[in-house]
Amino acid sequence: MNRFSYMRAGDIAGAVREISGNSTAQFIAGGTNLIDLMKESVTRPARLIDITRLPLSRIEETGNGGLRLGALVTNAETAYHPQIERRYPLLSRAILSGASAQLRNMATNGGNLLQRTRCYYFYDVATPCNKREPGTGCSAIEGFNRIHAVLGASDQCIAVHPSDMCVALAALEAVVHVTGKNGSRTIPFADFHRLPGDTPEMDTNLERDEIITSIELPAKGFAEHYAYLKVRDRKSYAFALISVAAALEMSGRTIAQARLALGGVAHKPWRDTQAEAMLNGKAATAENFQIVAEAIIRDAKGLTHNAFKIELAKRAIVRALKHAAQMGTRQ
Ligand SMILES: Cc1cc2nc3c(=O)[nH]c(=O)nc-3n(C[C@H](O)[C@H](O)[C@H](O)COP(=O)(O)OP(=O)(O)OC[C@H]3O[C@@H](n4cnc5c(N)ncnc54)[C@H](O)[C@@H]3O)c2cc1C
Ligand code: SF4
Repeated sequence: MNRFSYMRAGDIAGAVREISGNSTAQFIAGGTNLIDLMKESVTRPARLIDITRLPLSRIEETGNGGLRLGALVTNAETAYHPQIERRYPLLSRAILSGASAQLRNMATNGGNLLQRTRCYYFYDVATPCNKREPGTGCSAIEGFNRIHAVLGASDQCIAVHPSDMCVALAALEAVVHVTGKNGSRTIPFADFHRLPGDTPEMDTNLERDEIITSIELPAKGFAEHYAYLKVRDRKSYAFALISVAAALEMSGRTIAQARLALGGVAHKPWRDTQAEAMLNGKAATAENFQIVAEAIIRDAKGLTHNAFKIELAKRAIVRALKHAAQMGTRQ
């Protein structure tokens, strides 16, 4: 049993003050990831700062036609919000493909962005893991690495980011609003999560004293042509082996703009903006989809147990793009 103290923050400034003053403190929101990590002794905070009473539970219009999702809005409330269902159905689908109804009722948007990897060795404190204990080594590289990264990995860590919601947010080019002891700032979604490099213990570019206050969705929601395809071992209650968020703007059968983000392949939601731009101005054909899939996956490297993900990712990209392009044209 690891002893810890608990306090409930009354306002954002107080929450920031508490976390800044104690290097072993952690925020707790829905607790669906943090409590598991504490039970397994993966994380041992000496103080928990409960942020659930902060005024961050609203979904609001922004001045530029987008929506601001409070960090404490639950995943369920977000997915079923009428504006999300109508204007950002890609996000709704991605959230609803994750976890279970009970978990989505507890899980918050801020917590979803900061959930830790599901690498088995990260959770098993009897094994070396550079993410859990820097410098101890990576058990997955020579071990059972079926769920691990094929893109952007390093010789320190090959873990993947587990979130579904974040894959859709990457495709929608959301912006994360944060507040810390030096004030507030925004982080474009592409810069929020990190690749492992030599510092796999750092999942994101959030500073230790910063709290996520909201996630902003730009006005463009790609509600006419989108797909979230999640390939997994079970139909529900399982993390993605591969997931694809595809968003298209179509002009007849021609693609005006394409966005693609992949989950289950890297330490962060994976985008290759040069490769996706190859679709702009092109016809929505299987051949063109295959070309862009090959381009996105061209640098992928498979290990003993996860090489199957390379072909699986290509097929998932093509299928998601076909589905997105055909929306509204089927009988
Ligand atoms: C069995 C199971 C299956 C799951 N399946 C899926 C799945 O298929 N797809 C998927 O995407 N997810 C899945 N999840 C993960 C789930 O979505 C996350 O656990 C959840 O989103 C975390 O949100 P939370 O509010 O509970 O975070 P918490 O557990 O409270 O916190 C998680 C981390 O975020 C930090 N934190 C929380 N809020 C803030 C904030 N506002 N600012 C700064 N730091 C903050 C905490 O300090 C902690 O480090 C699954 C979880 C479980 C247990
Ligand atoms: S892949 Fe990353 S999280 Fe998994 S054992 Fe290696 S260092 Fe740890």
